[in-house]
Amino acid sequence: MPRRAAPMPGRQDPETAQGLGEFELIERYFSACGKRNDVLLGVGDDCALLRAPPDADLAVTVDTLVEGVHFSPSADPASLGHKALAVNLSDLAAMGAEPAWAVLALTLPQVNAHWLRGFSRGFSVLAARYGVQLIGGDTTRGPLSVTVQATGFVPAGEALQRSGARPGDLLYVTGTLGDAGLALRFSRGLNPDIQHPEVLQQRLEWPEPRVSVGMGLRGTASAAVDLSDGLLADLGHVLAASHVGARVHVASLPLGSEVRRYVAETGDWGIALAAGDDYELCVAVPAHLQSRVEDLGRKLGCCLTQVGLVERQPGLRCVAADGREILGLPSGYQHFASDG
Ligand code: ADP
Ligand code: MG
Repeated sequence: MPRRAAPMPGRQDPETAQGLGEFELIERYFSACGKRNDVLLGVGDDCALLRAPPDADLAVTVDTLVEGVHFSPSADPASLGHKALAVNLSDLAAMGAEPAWAVLALTLPQVNAHWLRGFSRGFSVLAARYGVQLIGGDTTRGPLSVTVQATGFVPAGEALQRSGARPGDLLYVTGTLGDAGLALRFSRGLNPDIQHPEVLQQRLEWPEPRVSVGMGLRGTASAAVDLSDGLLADLGHVLAASHVGARVHVASLPLGSEVRRYVAETGDWGIALAAGDDYELCVAVPAHLQSRVEDLGRKLGCCLTQVGLVERQPGLRCVAADGREILGLPSGYQHFASDG
């Protein structure tokens, strides 16, 4: 993209007062994030050059975080760097893909060394954990927004998809649901009774993508999705793509202690079912493979909870402990839901 001759405007920060240019900024913060043998050429040229393994399918995803929509102006830059990559790795996990490469498009209102240091640290630490190399990107000036594109590998034909669920399959979710949603409500002052807001805040700001679970479920799960918009919405996508329905037992939903107490006090199952930002996986598994899922959970130290059953009858039914269907639940987060 064409660029200004002048440096990106900096705050009076000791490191940027002299005006860090776009290229110095890229060089300083983004040129040495990860190192892989399949990257022939990384940051610095017009394109990256990559050599994909011969027998792999490539899984490709992109996600954008916008200030004021996905994070508040006061968000910790390190958590933002982490989350911008984590939400993409979560998509790769849902396909059973092994993460490999990332591309980062940053739009910044100004060059702020403190922010850039924190952001690149949060990004790099997560990238290193999953063997991801940052291979390129774009840096522009404007309202703060962060776009990450990630690519992963899956053995040919083995990717998990949304369309494979069949009647009789068991539905599992990883981890716990609703923690991030409750953190958001807490930060908006809507629920002052939380005892450990820092635990919930951690779940909102530092989601851990379920990469090894997704990879471990290749050949076992019939369908998978990651939970970004809430179980009802995201499982709904699986059901629509698979032309099936499902029954979810709310009493079986895996809840942390804060969410459990909140639901007991308010009866608001929406926090676990529709608040979003969980970044857990929801998978369908043929009933005869149940023990494989449970073995995998034990091996990886990840809680995999059976929450329901895929059914022939279309639609998603949430059932209470007494067997009655819960009606009127919110349907999950949608960006354009209220537009006319
Ligand atoms: P071009 O104008 O040819 O698209 P740029 O000047 O935008 O190239 O980028 C120069 C190099 O720096 C490219 O290799 C690009 O991929 C990389 N790059 C730019 N911004 C980032 C970023 N935020 N993170 C990582 N790499 C970046
Ligand atoms: Mg170019």
